[in-house]
Order: sequence, then structure tokens, then C-alpha cells
Amino acid sequence: MNRALPGLTLDELSTALSSRQRGLEVLKWLGSLSALPKELPELLPGVSHRVWSAFRQQHGVTQLQVTERSISEDGTTKYALQVDGANIETVRIPAKGRSTICISSQAGCTRKCVFCATKELGFIRQLKAEEMVAQYLLARFEAPLDAPARNVVFMGMGEPMDNLDEVLRAVEVLTQSPFPQLRQQSVTVSTSGVLPGMVRFLKESKASLALSLNATTDEVRARVMPQNKTWPIAALLGALRDAAVVDPDRDTFVEYVLFKDVNDTDADADRLVELLRDLPARVNLIPYNPFPGTGLETPSLERVKAFHERVASQGQLCLVRMPRGREIAAACGQLVLAQEGQRGFVPGEALQR
Ligand code: SF4
Repeated sequence: MNRALPGLTLDELSTALSSRQRGLEVLKWLGSLSALPKELPELLPGVSHRVWSAFRQQHGVTQLQVTERSISEDGTTKYALQVDGANIETVRIPAKGRSTICISSQAGCTRKCVFCATKELGFIRQLKAEEMVAQYLLARFEAPLDAPARNVVFMGMGEPMDNLDEVLRAVEVLTQSPFPQLRQQSVTVSTSGVLPGMVRFLKESKASLALSLNATTDEVRARVMPQNKTWPIAALLGALRDAAVVDPDRDTFVEYVLFKDVNDTDADADRLVELLRDLPARVNLIPYNPFPGTGLETPSLERVKAFHERVASQGQLCLVRMPRGREIAAACGQLVLAQEGQRGFVPGEALQR
């Protein structure tokens, strides 16, 4: 069996069906669904029976099984999913007028960020593009009418740059017309700072990029993100600077998880502003949700506010992002870890990327 729907690009559909019009019909059909079917229908409007039958023999539909659906008080919905034997997670985060869907790019992860729940799972397997797009569709189908799923962030389980071919394909599929037709700026791929992948992504994609920075010195960053020894801060920010010259319109975000007494001092705030000088990037400050055994803690709200004010008052665009769906463990790796009963995990006592 060849690649499954919904992982095919319009060009591939058009080739497989010997007509661009037929390829468009398939995308229109996908857009009319309220759930992914277990198998492709026997007939598809606008496609001849003969051509469609031949297509059905070569291509199936990705099957995601929801093993747990948790809804928090703020409406954030976390899906624990099983796909082809792997456990993964997807989160739907509602806001005014739109929802953001946070999807996983790998089952588990090879990286070892100290603060992350997913790393406890180890690496299980790469996800295919259709498994990423299917996560979006599942959450999209369930999004409220007044908050349609307009944004996608690759901030669930996994390091997207370690599965870049499939991530790039998923971004292409998510942004193609007539369906799902997301804007490039509405799709954000987040990286822990895997430099070769980041450079390639910045060359080959117009989607937004989020760099998970989390420290202002190499020494501290290497403590919380060991790969910093290979790809230090200056090299990562240098790649962002180079890309901003080529494509000044791209949205770039710097994610900064605040850890008490580790990276939350006034000196850190000043260094952060200095590091990002002349870089057109927005900083998202995220107070850490503690995870047992990491030795890392959440700063007080006063410290978070003071850090934010110090950064913002120096002209750096900066927002505080409070963790959503905390009581349902809506951060990468938490729910799967809870299901697998590792390390006495307690939902609500964990962390986010
Ligand atoms: S934060 Fe991201 S890159 Fe780091 S271990 Fe967790 S999933 Fe992997």
C-alpha cells in the first residue's frame, strides 16, 4: 500500500488520478467530512469509478484511535491517540474566534531536554506526514463553530527537525488549497535548536518557526538542553538572523520557559534583549510546570511579571503565555507518560516545551 490519505499533496493526487480536477475533488471531499472514515468510500463524486477503484487499491486512510479525551476548564482538549501501534498526543486549544491545534511529529523523542516529559518515553518511531495531518483533522472536526481550527503548532511530542522530510510534507498538505488551506503564517514549527534541520527548514518552508531557547548563556542552556553543546546559542540565533535577511516577512518566535533561579534573573532578562537585538522575533515567556525529578521549579508570578516588564521595557516584543489545560496535563509527553504510569506521574504536575 502506498502513502495514505491525508498525506498526499494535490500534485500527487492529480498524478494518481490522472487529472488535477479529480485531485481537487478528493480535497473537496476531505473538507466535507466530519470524521476520517475507516476506509475510502467505493464511489467519490467527480471521479470515475474505474479511476477511483484503482486509487483505492493503492491508498488507504490513516487510522487514529482516540484512547483518551481530556477536556480542561478552559476548554483545552487533549487527545491521547494510538496510531499504528504508537501512542501520541494532540491538543486543541480554543481562543476567541479560533482554535490552535498542537500536533506531534514523532512518537517519543531522541532529544534529552531535562524539563520535558516526552524524553522519559525515549524514541519510539517517526510519524508519517499523514499521521500529522490526521491529528489536525481529528481536532478540526471537533472544534467549536465559533472557534475553528485555524492554527497548527508542531509543539507536541518529538523534535520536528529530526523528522523534517515528513514535517515539510505535512506543512505543504496543511497549507494547500482548497483544503485544509491554512495560511503559512498560521503553521508554526517549533525546534529545540537542531541547527542543520533549522537551516534547511528556513530555506525550504515559508511557515513560521519557533526556537525553544530557554537560557541566555551556553552554560545554562546546556544544563537544560544538552544538545546545546553541539549547537550553541550564537549559531542558532545566527541562523535566524540569516533567514530574516532572506525572508523578512516570516514570523519567528523565541520560546523561553522560565525556571526559578535558573534563567529568570534580571541579568537574564537583559542578556535576552541583547541576544535578540535586531532580530525580528517575538518572545513567548512560559512559566514552567514542574515535573517530578527534574529539580526545576516555577518562578513566582511576581518574578514572571518582573522579567516580562524588564524585557518589554527595553523594546523587545514579548508576551507571557500561561500554560493551558494544566489540570489535564496538556503539555508534550505528559498524557502518554501518565497512561504508561512512568515515574509516578501525576497529571497537572508536569511541564511544557
Ligand atoms: S522538549 Fe521537544 S525536543 Fe526536547 S525532549 Fe521534549 S519533545 Fe524532544
